[in-house]
Amino acid sequence: MTEREIQALPGLSDDEVTELRKRHGFNELPDAERRGTFTIVLGVLREPMFLLLVACGLVYMLVGEPRDALLLLGFVIIMMGITIYQEGKTERTLDALRNLASPRALVIRGGSRFVIPGRELVPGDLVVLAEGERVPADGTLVWATSLSADESLLTGESVPVGKGPLDTLEAARIDMARPGGEDSPFCYSGSLTVSGQGLMLVRSTGGSTEMGRIGSALASVGEEATLLQKETGRIVKAIFAISLLLFVIIIAVYGLTRRAPSGVGGDWLGGILAGITFAMAMLPEEFPVVLTIFLALGAWRISRKNVLARRMSAVETLGAATVLCSDKTGTITENRMSIRRLWNGRDFYDLDAPEESGAGRIPESFHGLLEWGVLASRRDPFDPMEKAFVDLLNGGLIDEAHGHPAWEIVREYPLSRALLAVTHVWRRGDGERLAVAVKGAPEAIMDLCHLAEDRRAEISAIIGTLAEDGSRILGVASGELVQHTAEFELPSSQHDFDFAFRGLVGLADPIRPAVPGAIRQCGEAGIRVVMITGDYPKTASAIARRIGLENPDRVITGAELEAMEPKELASRIGDCQVFARVVPEQKLLLVRAFKYAKEIVAMTGDGVNDAPALKAAHIGVAMGKRGTDVAREASALVLLDDDFSSIVAAVRVGRRIFDNLKKAMAYIVSVHVPIAGMSLLPILLSWKEAALLPVHIVFLELIIDPACSIVFEGQPEEKDIMSRPPRKTTESLFGRRSLFISLGLGFTALACVLGIWYLAGVAGLPVETQRTLSFVTLIVSNLAIILSTRSWNSGLIASFAARNPAVPWVVGGAAAFLSFIVSLPFLRELFHFGEPGGAWILVACACGLASIAWFEGLKLVARLRGKSLL
Ligand code: ADP
Ligand code: MG
Repeated sequence: MTEREIQALPGLSDDEVTELRKRHGFNELPDAERRGTFTIVLGVLREPMFLLLVACGLVYMLVGEPRDALLLLGFVIIMMGITIYQEGKTERTLDALRNLASPRALVIRGGSRFVIPGRELVPGDLVVLAEGERVPADGTLVWATSLSADESLLTGESVPVGKGPLDTLEAARIDMARPGGEDSPFCYSGSLTVSGQGLMLVRSTGGSTEMGRIGSALASVGEEATLLQKETGRIVKAIFAISLLLFVIIIAVYGLTRRAPSGVGGDWLGGILAGITFAMAMLPEEFPVVLTIFLALGAWRISRKNVLARRMSAVETLGAATVLCSDKTGTITENRMSIRRLWNGRDFYDLDAPEESGAGRIPESFHGLLEWGVLASRRDPFDPMEKAFVDLLNGGLIDEAHGHPAWEIVREYPLSRALLAVTHVWRRGDGERLAVAVKGAPEAIMDLCHLAEDRRAEISAIIGTLAEDGSRILGVASGELVQHTAEFELPSSQHDFDFAFRGLVGLADPIRPAVPGAIRQCGEAGIRVVMITGDYPKTASAIARRIGLENPDRVITGAELEAMEPKELASRIGDCQVFARVVPEQKLLLVRAFKYAKEIVAMTGDGVNDAPALKAAHIGVAMGKRGTDVAREASALVLLDDDFSSIVAAVRVGRRIFDNLKKAMAYIVSVHVPIAGMSLLPILLSWKEAALLPVHIVFLELIIDPACSIVFEGQPEEKDIMSRPPRKTTESLFGRRSLFISLGLGFTALACVLGIWYLAGVAGLPVETQRTLSFVTLIVSNLAIILSTRSWNSGLIASFAARNPAVPWVVGGAAAFLSFIVSLPFLRELFHFGEPGGAWILVACACGLASIAWFEGLKLVARLRGKSLL
């Protein structure tokens, strides 16, 4: 089957697809990862907080306080609601992201080609298989050239197997066989096309494929815990151990030193209650929950910048990136090539300054050059360079006859790492004679033409001038062969043809408009941008200058790269940002060198050969539009619009996520100090009454804590987000400074709460009133800390300028709840509160606000000295 016949295949019509879909539905693969509400509820039941609440309720029942027990039960329900909502939201976000990341298929329908999500395929569809792609369904091959597939997922066999086509009728009739065996005509969903191309008739999809029968979801790579998750896990364990120890001590102290209310034996039940209260106060469950929420919602935020996070770890590493390595063609430029300048070996022609004569047509003397250029391109080109040639033909700028529609292609010699040129051999209309056309990198073409030294020097100088504006330069040459005998065979290498040099073509590829701005931002943010290209060094330099890279004239080529010792390379890359004539395999050397120089490196790529470098980089970035599945699966991020500036936008979001995470974690530490302090101190100081009861702690933990994660998660970025250097990856969430700030705020709040307790005590207020006032102070200080620490740079008032829709809800909601439990008699009783009166409440509020005064001062000093606290 020829390329043209494939083009002419009708494929299914829209109606047939609708009909088939009615019959088969969307055949989705069983999704192992999605969790239902039931699993989430089960998860809640296993949570320590839940167990503590139940234990606490039991003790209340035992000591004859059913009302307190019921109240706690109410809180259990609220807690479940919040958890189910939050986890459901996280799950939905991840689901949506997974959908975006699901494999796609190139399908022929109604005579045209479309890219559709793999799950929308129906049996009967014609699917184009290409190198580096996952096969999206089970089916039989109707056409293939040197197609081989890796079916190790299904057979365990790691060596790729070759595939051979059937004719169309047979392909539709034959029964699918099990995977395995050389040269079989069957392809299986989930296997990987390693080389070649093919056209497959879809036979079964989704759950009825071999893969679906095994039940393993496609590419459901197990999520490894991220660095932060591991760090948090360690901290949680440590706090847990300490709390457990204190828990036992509290019960022992209580039971041994206090009499039970009945007068018989120690007060063990009271001890258990006090111990549980303390455990609730200390329970570090928020850390992992907040981390999960921030990472999942972070992935969603990043996706709105057109970047898909395939691995959670990328969300946290992004903000720390120090080097962004980007492909030039297609990522920095648009990969929309158009032919702008010509040189036919003697004269120049500039398509942007056309000569008046000939009504816009290109002068005849350049037609030979273009004719051979067209012949060295496919008739239905996919490559933008080849499109540019065919566009000239279709645009009527040269005669249509130069396309030689009657000629038939005999063989194509593809681009290779050793020779950057493409040769096409054509059978001419007149029998035995074959025409050979080649186009490619000018050095390669000069080699193929065996040009003399002085002619080479002359041409090189011309390449230099043509490349000055960043054009890509291609050389074109032509040759002829006569088929004398029937056994005649074409040479195996392009070098064995006799080529005549035809000239040079300059192709322009517009720079993406947002790129220069994005590169400027990177400069301010201390991030180096490195451009990698397979293009000619002069072209690369010119583009580098136009997008504003530093030292655009310092270029290292792929060959130089390979010849360098790792150490030498690591030192040379310090001030070189342009790498030209690089083949994908050499990107790995670059990644290694940057890693050796202790950089955090992001690397873009699209092809099968890019995969090792993508995997090795800290952040592999695959192209969403033109990337292969192999590249995507090796990457942590997928750029949906292939635009370099989206990476920078994602880095910005990554930095903000880390900032906010740090603030949220610091807040959690701060707020637990006064709570834990107020539940521990009364026991250590042998107060007669507890200051905080379980219900108070639950109120704080269940209503304010989750709300705060919303506030911090949604907090807009700090002003200096892209003007400070990248964070060190060794920097933990709890650095010395942030630990100092958070503990400092916590202990000040504790002091304020204690202060009001004593003040009320000295004034002779009853213990219920003391408790009320200290609780008011506690909540107010809590809210003040949220408002103050949501920005670590701007002052309390100024930070209201940054829009955060969660703030009024959280502050308003907490204030409303607080006023209810303080003022409504029946709630007051449930909370074991007294009636302090307005003046005292004001004093308590003032006390709460006072706890952030020093931090506001610290921020002011930092601002005046132009420093960042984060
Ligand atoms: P980049 O990294 O900029 O995308 P490539 O690796 O795609 O560059 O291409 C490197 C060089 O190979 C090009 O500068 C060009 O000289 C040559 N080349 C690429 N594709 C073709 C093609 N289809 N025909 C001829 N030459 C090509
Ligand atoms: Mg390329």
